[in-house]
Amino acid sequence: MNVRTRFAPSPSGRLHVGNARTALFSALLAAHSHGQFILRIEDTDAVRSHAQLETALTEDLRWLGLVWQEGPDVGGGHGPYRQSGRGQIYRTYVDQLTEKGLTYPCFCTPAALAMSRKTQLAAGKPPRYAGTCAHLTEAEIEARLATGLKPALRFRVSETGETAFDDLVRGRQVFAHNDIGDFVILRGDGSPAFFFSNAVDDALMEITHVLRGEDHLANTPRQLLLLQALDLQIPHYAHLSLLVGPDGKPLSKREGGSTLAELWETGFSSAAVLNYLARLGHHYDSNRVMPFKELSDAFSIHKVGKSSAHFDITQLRHWQQEVMSEVRDGVLWQVLMDSSEGERIKKLVPKDKWQEFIVFLKKDIKHSLLPAEAAAYASMLYSDKLKYDDAAKEPIHSATEKYFSAALASLVKEDQTYKQYTAALSEATGLQGRKLFMPLRAALTGLTHGPELELIWEMLGLERIRQRLKAAAEIAQS
Ligand code: GLU
Repeated sequence: MNVRTRFAPSPSGRLHVGNARTALFSALLAAHSHGQFILRIEDTDAVRSHAQLETALTEDLRWLGLVWQEGPDVGGGHGPYRQSGRGQIYRTYVDQLTEKGLTYPCFCTPAALAMSRKTQLAAGKPPRYAGTCAHLTEAEIEARLATGLKPALRFRVSETGETAFDDLVRGRQVFAHNDIGDFVILRGDGSPAFFFSNAVDDALMEITHVLRGEDHLANTPRQLLLLQALDLQIPHYAHLSLLVGPDGKPLSKREGGSTLAELWETGFSSAAVLNYLARLGHHYDSNRVMPFKELSDAFSIHKVGKSSAHFDITQLRHWQQEVMSEVRDGVLWQVLMDSSEGERIKKLVPKDKWQEFIVFLKKDIKHSLLPAEAAAYASMLYSDKLKYDDAAKEPIHSATEKYFSAALASLVKEDQTYKQYTAALSEATGLQGRKLFMPLRAALTGLTHGPELELIWEMLGLERIRQRLKAAAEIAQS
């Protein structure tokens, strides 16, 4: 079978990571079988301006490394690939349903429909169209049309029987027709409803596998009914569980962002995001960073889990770390320069220290994965005027000025090692452990946490160490 999958976003802004994962799984499935992955833009909602939104969306998909063989920008034999350009096609298929007596005009107002939904829900019933306009006579229809009302067009669903299908992820799904109710296929303004255009396009574009979010599960029986009525090909369906935050709630900024754009603006690499998303709900035996080709070779829709997948930024950091530790020094510097923190880092790090700085970052890569973290390190190491956070001022005050006089006096020569220095300081102050090290850390870095103090010591050099101890002495006195 020639596998054809598609990603069919309604452009509404930057790509959400959940949708990015759906696109990725669809692309992986197609690539696995040397099939085609298609991009279709579902822009039937005429109110918004779609051009910019579509550009943002394709930019996001390309950043992730996805390539589509057919789509609005690359063409293909099943176009147009924007639904806004397919109006004529939809009309043909709507007419076919009408000729078969399967549609009727519906004049119900949104307010009347909302009221009916409310009543049904209150009675504990699943809300479905009550059938108000299902049996209007020709004369009644004419009379309503004569008043200028613009009806929607509904598809008739039998009140008996059921529609079933085998979902590739969730197994057998059965829906009673009685719960479905007649649904709109054409809106009052003449634009096609999602159920309709989406199903017709999947068939006409010869899509074999539809991968989409589980929020669409209840739409599928409606689409099966339409495809059957139109004698069109029915694809396999795989409804993917939703992507949620670590707490099981919808993703938010707290998790480092809910769009791909936010992730790349934060400085995550596309390889890290690709490898993490590929493993959200899909099991891979290997824990290595893999390029798209290897991910697709090992991809199987049968390895996709049913339970909701948790997007956790700590896991993404793990992948970022895997990627960064393989990056060569020169490339890492360039990555930082190209980031939003590039200017700041360049200003802070003296030219002859670039190499040394990168080596330092790599030693503590866990805490310097992102450009903002690297910039904070650059500031900690090379800034002439260190900023002390409140937590750091506390151990400096407690240590008192006496500690810093001893600390300054214990500084003897340029090549004094960290071990020699702290031994001398311990001797001079009679302090050990936390009491010895915390004021020193706070004085030298402005923070109460961070990389090994020994690493920092080696980087700072005698002059800067002296200057920072003096500054701490002043804080201790203030
Ligand atoms: N335009 C729909 C959406 O963005 C497509 C759903 C589907 O993949 O079938 O939710």
